[in-house]
Amino acid sequence: MALVLEEQIKKKSKFDISFEEIPITGHEKVLKVTSKKARLTAIIAIHNTTLGSALGGTRIQPYPTFEAALNDVLRLSAGMTYKSAAVKAGWGGGKSVIIADPANEKTDDLLMAFGEAITLLEGRYICAEDMGCGTEDVKIISRTTPYIVGLPHKKSSGNPSPYTAWGVFCSIEAALMKLIGSASVKNKIVAIQGTGSVGETLAEFLFRRGARLIVSDIDPRRARIVAERFGARICSPREILTVECDIFSPCALGGILNSETIPMLQAKAVVGAANNQLLRKEDADLLQKRGILYVPDFVANAGGLINATNELRKDGYDETSALELIGQIYDQLLFIFDNAEKNGYSPHKAAVKLCEYNLNYGIGRREGKIYFHHSNVSIDAPTPELTHHGRSK
Ligand code: NAD
Repeated sequence: MALVLEEQIKKKSKFDISFEEIPITGHEKVLKVTSKKARLTAIIAIHNTTLGSALGGTRIQPYPTFEAALNDVLRLSAGMTYKSAAVKAGWGGGKSVIIADPANEKTDDLLMAFGEAITLLEGRYICAEDMGCGTEDVKIISRTTPYIVGLPHKKSSGNPSPYTAWGVFCSIEAALMKLIGSASVKNKIVAIQGTGSVGETLAEFLFRRGARLIVSDIDPRRARIVAERFGARICSPREILTVECDIFSPCALGGILNSETIPMLQAKAVVGAANNQLLRKEDADLLQKRGILYVPDFVANAGGLINATNELRKDGYDETSALELIGQIYDQLLFIFDNAEKNGYSPHKAAVKLCEYNLNYGIGRREGKIYFHHSNVSIDAPTPELTHHGRSK
């Protein structure tokens, strides 16, 4: 980090924030953030800002080791770069983790010190809610930083989950169009793994359009609520992987598609919200070999990102424009499926290649100002130093 910024940090910091850069190949900047005063240890990972400021949630978890926290934040921040690039959302990839137990170590000072660290990065990284860090926590973080999305205020985007679910619904339509030439979900069987915030709303969208539902959740109460509301059949967490269906929709946890589960699947396509569904990237090829259409998770679940960041427009959040952009996931997927077919590789590989192309040529790069309405602060979108291909150095 430049010395000038180090000096500014020392002068401005109320919580005695210190940054230590961790050199990581492939990431633009990874910072260990500490504040003795606030008992804060966190990592902010900025993966790539070619297309805009790095944006991604703040996860609060009692990681067993610093290494574990670092691995998580590196993986998640890179994932954000791809998610944004795939749907041309105009953001870079970033993520942060605070190493603390959200149950008893999440003090106001800890959160405010973290907010101060974000402020000192002057908009290069924008944070949001994530696991262990809810709406009340982001409100506290916002006391010391403007660079945050998802706060309750009149120009805010609110809860992203229904919009993530809408993006998954559009992705199911795209998968059906590819498979059978019709996007209609009527009478199609969709098996949803995980009936939490996204799974429940997805079930509602599907039910209203005539799909037949099978659901499973490790919390039987959650599965029952959805079954009662939308006439779904409940099955066990094991059975959901083997039920015969048109679409298997993982909306619970990552790593669910692997060499053990893929041979069991009786679905024509996999389309869900969970992040990092493939345990290894080779698992995309396993799915392809079995003739199962896999819709890349980082495209299918980009609706929440598109919606949350819509509030950073000059006039604040506008649902119509957010829904229009989320709807474009459908066309983007048809493009990805076609490219995959033409080149004989999996849709996952086609989506990754598309992201790399967009990053190399700066396609979908954000220009102009970013408005943080809750704090009346605006900043210019970063203008990265570009190579001759457009990619930031
Ligand atoms: P959630 O915590 O509200 O719901 C997850 C549900 O999955 C819970 O009800 C949980 O009991 C259930 N579950 C966990 N393990 C299970 C298993 N083995 N079998 C069946 N059910 C299981 O989370 P959410 O907000 O609905 O998100 C779902 C997934 O989508 C997560 O992986 C999340 O990272 C991802 N995602 C969410 C959003 C969003 O806007 N909420 C955006 C992008 C990605």
